[in-house]
Amino acid sequence: MRKKFIAGNWKMFTTAASAEQLANAVVKGLGSESRFTAAVCPPFPYLERVANVVRGSPVGLGAQNLYPEKEGAFTGEVSPTMLVDLGCRYVIVGHSERRHKLRESDSFINRKVQAALVAGLSVILCVGETLEEREADQTEKVLDTQVTKGLAGVSAEALQRLVLAYEPVWAIGTGRNATPDQAQQAHAFLRRRVGELCGAEAAASLIIQYGGSVKPDNAAQLLHQPDVDGALVGGASLQAEPFLAIARAAL
Ligand code: PEP
Repeated sequence: MRKKFIAGNWKMFTTAASAEQLANAVVKGLGSESRFTAAVCPPFPYLERVANVVRGSPVGLGAQNLYPEKEGAFTGEVSPTMLVDLGCRYVIVGHSERRHKLRESDSFINRKVQAALVAGLSVILCVGETLEEREADQTEKVLDTQVTKGLAGVSAEALQRLVLAYEPVWAIGTGRNATPDQAQQAHAFLRRRVGELCGAEAAASLIIQYGGSVKPDNAAQLLHQPDVDGALVGGASLQAEPFLAIARAAL
């Protein structure tokens, strides 16, 4: 049985005070809930504050990015070991905003995946097609490339600390979510591909989140698809109530 995993990506939002407040409200709202896994991913500058709030609670802490070197002359970057130091359990890698706005390549993303895993972090690896790619019937081809290159060199054992997030680019922050059928189809394809790459057992236990305009009113339908194991939530994670409602919809 795969446990549903709901994570909030706060992107470049919140202030020191509102991040702390939001984390407090999520911790309070979840109480001792353990039927699903939950995590919040605040901006770098607020990781430590939020770590202090979620410590000892079921809410995991994640970062939104890392640089794939242990240390060195990389001005402005943050290493995986620094994230571990701060109490992070997760890191988001390959988010479409970084792939498309910051031109991150599959090979750079693969370096991040490997560096994060070596440091002991769990990785949320995002993949997803653009609208043009979907309309040109290229969805599976794009997902295949992203997952094959993103997971290059990752062993079946290390895959236990990896979560895939299927995030169609056209659904992120647009209010237009994938239909449950579209999500299921993409997730089933990804699971099949991971099975071919890393073995059937690793694929069967792999958590695959859906991300893209998940809201309290569409969460249940998406989350109850057989291959949808959770959600990566952007906009709706910036307030505790909708985030908690999405998480409860997983039950
Ligand atoms: C995201 O940032 O990963 C995301 C899915 O955003 P939103 O929920 O706002 O579409």
